[in-house]
Amino acid sequence: MNAAQRDVARISHNTKIVVTLGPGSNDLQLLEDMIRAGGLNVVRFNFSHGTPEFHRENAKLVREAARRCGQEIAILADLQGPKIRIGKIAGGSIELNQGEKLVLDADLSGEGTREAVGLDYRDLPKDVAAGDVLWLDDGLLTLTVDSVVGSKIITTVENSYVLKSNKGINKRGGGLSAGALTEKDFRDLQTAVEIGCDYLAVSFVKSGEDLQLARQKVEEAMAGSSLIRPGLVAKIERVEAIENLDEIILASDGIMVARGDLAVEVGHAAVPALQKRMIRRARELRRFSITATQMMESMITNPVPTRAEVSDVANAVLDGTDAVMCSAETAVGAYPFETVTQMAKICAEAEKEQDSLIGVAEYVEDCAVSTNLAIASGAVSVARAVRAKAIVALTESGSTAFEISRHNIQLPIFALTPNVAAQRKMAAYRGVRPMILATSTNHDKAIQQVEATLLERKILNRGDQYIITSGSKMRETGSTNTLEVLRVE
Ligand code: PGA
Ligand code: MN
Repeated sequence: MNAAQRDVARISHNTKIVVTLGPGSNDLQLLEDMIRAGGLNVVRFNFSHGTPEFHRENAKLVREAARRCGQEIAILADLQGPKIRIGKIAGGSIELNQGEKLVLDADLSGEGTREAVGLDYRDLPKDVAAGDVLWLDDGLLTLTVDSVVGSKIITTVENSYVLKSNKGINKRGGGLSAGALTEKDFRDLQTAVEIGCDYLAVSFVKSGEDLQLARQKVEEAMAGSSLIRPGLVAKIERVEAIENLDEIILASDGIMVARGDLAVEVGHAAVPALQKRMIRRARELRRFSITATQMMESMITNPVPTRAEVSDVANAVLDGTDAVMCSAETAVGAYPFETVTQMAKICAEAEKEQDSLIGVAEYVEDCAVSTNLAIASGAVSVARAVRAKAIVALTESGSTAFEISRHNIQLPIFALTPNVAAQRKMAAYRGVRPMILATSTNHDKAIQQVEATLLERKILNRGDQYIITSGSKMRETGSTNTLEVLRVE
């Protein structure tokens, strides 16, 4: 579809859409059209591909597209992590037949052949033993380990397959010793901070400590700067991450249900139920969640999704995810615009069936711990009681809007902030519509400004009732302590 044919009529929905940028989508006009159509809230830079220069240029492109649309979007820099791959294969591929042997050799330096292929992770022979199952290329090839001799892993091929260079390897059941952050990740983290990413995704985390290390590295990379730190997204894609789920969620700002690698660690069949658990736990522990991988896979080459893909996106929405993600569909696919607009429509339809997934009551106990939480909880119940048209949060950091959004209500949450970095971060939160507004420090004047803005943008009409949260000491981070029910004059 060329730019002139795109229908950019805005599709209104609460669930956010993450678009992975790549050669199929790093085009200014396309990004603008996606934003205008409501198909893009967060852009993911996949550091498994591309040079620092590629990402730097893309960051400029994204900021420019957002500026032209008058809507800030978040940049999520996704670190590769210790993804284990086989080495290059002479001629590009080898044909394997069921029952044959294949040797994976960590010491092989040249190109792989039918005799043996190399590995980019030298410790793999130490992490596996006879009987282990290895899944290559996202599970398309299964190998069972016969024995390990020094640097060589001798395996039996379980299904016939043409194996190409550099394909990924996962071990069923987990147990790989590689840490979550590699030397390459540390360099990429520096680039990500320099381009001003709003979120940093850490791959293959096993524990909360992995996130603490990432936070420390971010702190070092930012070297005393007073800018807001990027939020950390923990990618849940290892068996160990499921075992330590609560600890990891609490050490992060949000999680990614990274179904690609997760499926080849825990087995495909276990993923849907785990997805539900992860999304629910993230919400209960007041973090956000992104559901990722193969959501609209067939749209890499087709202009419409399969019925199963439509259901998958809708079910993630009904599970309560904050965002749904496109990977190759937008990075290299032939229909990036159609993919995101289809997703937006599916979100909008699914949300009609959404009710409060977590009752307000469950929050009351927690609310005692902070005024912010209590105000957020109160805003939701009062909004329901008076049938308000919207909840408006005057927020410096975005935290009140975030706490309100944890209740998963259909009502729009308009978050007005003077802070661009906070506005960008809020792009990831379900139901939150961030807007820039530098309100007066005088409470009454600020309310007048807010009403004028909401009327002007046709968000509210005269006579509409709405809820507003603010701080009696206006314009101070963490000062929210006031909840009002107002009617637009
Ligand atoms: P990846 O992560 O695309 O970076 O591998 C997502 C996943 O594994 O699902
Ligand atoms: Mn992954």
